[in-house]
Amino acid sequence: MFVRVAKVEKHSKDIATIHINARFNALPGQFAMLYVPEYEEIPISFSSESSFTVKAVGETTRALLDTKRGSLIGVRGPFGRPFRLKNNALLIAGGIGIAPLRFLSYRLLRKGYNFQVVYGAKNAEELIWKDFYNAVYITENGTYGIKGTAVDFVEKESLERYSAIYSCGKSEFLKKLYRIFEEKSKSKFIEFSLERYIRCGIGVCGSCVLENGMRVCKDGPVFNMNELTIDDL
Ligand SMILES: Cc1cc2nc3c(=O)[nH]c(=O)nc-3n(C[C@H](O)[C@H](O)[C@H](O)COP(=O)(O)OP(=O)(O)OC[C@H]3O[C@@H](n4cnc5c(N)ncnc54)[C@H](O)[C@@H]3O)c2cc1C
Repeated sequence: MFVRVAKVEKHSKDIATIHINARFNALPGQFAMLYVPEYEEIPISFSSESSFTVKAVGETTRALLDTKRGSLIGVRGPFGRPFRLKNNALLIAGGIGIAPLRFLSYRLLRKGYNFQVVYGAKNAEELIWKDFYNAVYITENGTYGIKGTAVDFVEKESLERYSAIYSCGKSEFLKKLYRIFEEKSKSKFIEFSLERYIRCGIGVCGSCVLENGMRVCKDGPVFNMNELTIDDL
């Protein structure tokens, strides 16, 4: 369906939240296929029931950032398997990986669940939300919060305190976390949100199939750690 852009909230030069004039029955971790006329259709996570938070990395993401209030964009979805909500959780985000975790944090709050957010980005500008209920902020250059990376922090954190861990970020980031979890908390409930090239979004075309045969668009994008090997990340 086509929906109208209600507002483009610029967070930085390359990151914005596109608020739309429609509310989807979406759950945290689910995504939609977004279409800006004349560009490719791309997968973007819901950052709430009525918004998408996008980092410009190429043509289509830039076109999304360039939309204006009143522009029409195509939205197919919600698609995919969401995060499963648990109490006493640790949410770990690298960069734009914060988008679905923002949505998750609101749902956890609404349920009255305890959680801690660890949110790392390159610099203060890319750390787009600084108002989480309970968060540790980390920047690589130390311009906001602790200097370092979210991985450094997790390495030192006592993971025994949490009943569930949710992670979202780039492939390399998730691989580093996977190694830490393997060592420190194998028995925990751990979910990763994965990125792959997604074309159809409904499990038919096969473009996002993992080695184990699971499809990121339909069986994911959220997977439990015990369904994955490190090479799937
Ligand atoms: C389930 C899912 C949810 C996503 N949610 C978000 C979100 O909430 N916000 C957001 O900003 N982005 C999200 N992405 C990533 C987003 O889909 C890509 O950034 C987008 O498709 C790039 O399109 P483009 O035409 O702008 O860039 P392209 O011209 O297609 O690519 C530009 C550069 O980005 C790289 N790239 C493209 N797609 C991906 C990808 N999937 N993973 C890693 N690198 C890629 C390319 O290799 C290239 O170097 C999500 C991806 C998936 C699979």
